[in-house]
Amino acid sequence: MSNFDQLLSVDRIFAIYNHSVAALQGVSLSVRTGEVRALLGANGAGKTTTLRAIANLLGTQRGSVTSGRIVFDGLDVLKTPPSTLVQAGLASVLEGRHVFKSLNVEENLIVGALARGSRRSELSADLERIYALFPSLLPKRKIAAGLTSGGEQQMVAIGRALMSRPRLLILDEPSMGLAPIVVKGIFETLRALNRNDGLTILMAEQNAAIALRYADQATVIENGTDVLSDTADALRRGDYVKEFYLGSNVSSGIKREAGPQQPSAVSASDELQTIAAE
Ligand code: ATP
Repeated sequence: MSNFDQLLSVDRIFAIYNHSVAALQGVSLSVRTGEVRALLGANGAGKTTTLRAIANLLGTQRGSVTSGRIVFDGLDVLKTPPSTLVQAGLASVLEGRHVFKSLNVEENLIVGALARGSRRSELSADLERIYALFPSLLPKRKIAAGLTSGGEQQMVAIGRALMSRPRLLILDEPSMGLAPIVVKGIFETLRALNRNDGLTILMAEQNAAIALRYADQATVIENGTDVLSDTADALRRGDYVKEFYLGSNVSSGIKREAGPQQPSAVSASDELQTIAAE
């Protein structure tokens, strides 16, 4: 791979929280222009921390990168303020699809445009584009975002990020807590953005089945270290993910949750597997 292809490179980063808790212990990955890369791993593996580091937002969580280097489109991320990264084309949807609950849907979207410093003349075209991508937001545009469904809040969060016209979109667990049909719609939209508009995407997902269905490449992290990187197809066929599906990888803590105590989680998970296999 030539360096010109690389939009993002993460080189052996170590990160801690509260001056002591080790969260990342040498994570490396790269994202090429135009690809969708999934970041897979169990609970606590370090996916969120990696994304926070890439957006240079670890400081907001009393965390810091202690060594390693992150470069986004030639910018040294760890020396660049998060707002400058957004203006340079790196947008993130982190922290559990955060929306400003008391602002209405459209005001939330406009916040994303302000982050980029968009001109007024660009605003209405950008809003129209978001409503075309997520038609269910249009009739709700004057409704407080906090009163919309979980799926709609995820769409608002993604829409807000898209209002900054990013080249790289990073997302943390876009499927979390959403009904399978909503998840499918969101992933289809993300893929269309990638295929039609060339948006490069890095998404952390615990749900490997759905992530590998839509990603081109994937990196797996365990205990704060990247352990495997390959094409999504190869990972779908490989033992690691088969173990993941079967829930037999107990040692790395990625056993699939199942059992009579969680019937709805099981059926949602099964339904997602079906969508992923389509
Ligand atoms: P999950 O899907 O559960 O969020 P993850 O793969 O995203 O898992 P991280 O959230 O990055 O993993 O967590 C990596 C490690 O850092 C874990 O040990 C976690 O407890 C710790 N950690 C995460 N966020 C914080 C925080 N704000 N303060 C202190 N420790 C944290």
